[in-house]
Amino acid sequence: MNPRFKYVVSLFRKLPGVGPRQAARFVLALMEKPDAELKELGGMIANLRNEIKFCANCFNLSENHVCRVCADNRREKMKILVVEKVTDLDSIEKTGLYRGQYHVLGGAINPVDGIMPDHLRIKELSSRVDEALSANSEIEVILATNPTTMGETTAIYLKDLLVNKKGVNITRLGRGLASGSHLEYADEITLRNALESRR
Ligand SMILES: [Zn+2]
Repeated sequence: MNPRFKYVVSLFRKLPGVGPRQAARFVLALMEKPDAELKELGGMIANLRNEIKFCANCFNLSENHVCRVCADNRREKMKILVVEKVTDLDSIEKTGLYRGQYHVLGGAINPVDGIMPDHLRIKELSSRVDEALSANSEIEVILATNPTTMGETTAIYLKDLLVNKKGVNITRLGRGLASGSHLEYADEITLRNALESRR
């Protein structure tokens, strides 16, 4: 096989959930595209970090220093909903039911893959909780990590971390989310039930 082709395939394989066959299909599909489209894609990838940033506050994707959720003064400041990924935030945002703040951890604790609490934005969450407590006597932290082993491990870790802070009410998304499922694939009705039945 062409070594250049193999190399590009190996780059695609570094993406989450992409196996060798799928990576090869991606590269073959790209080879069918017109030059202009490939150039545009290449340019977008090269500038990804300049043009799309993480919100300095909650780590949602943003074009500015803070994202539109954090910049919206009409949203409740004493609620912080904690998710693993930006795609989870999007799923909850789509329900239109939640009017508080978010915090994106950047993943879940997973010792097998070497992802430890230090690799996630947990320190940042702790500081935000302290900050919110300095402005409100009570705040709610909604743990909305996935109902998977890693998500549950993360939720337990966060609960232990936050439980001794005075004025913090820690809740977890409730019924309807099947064990082992992922928030980003849950339908709106399921998410609505889970949000409404948090405990
Ligand atoms: Zn934000």
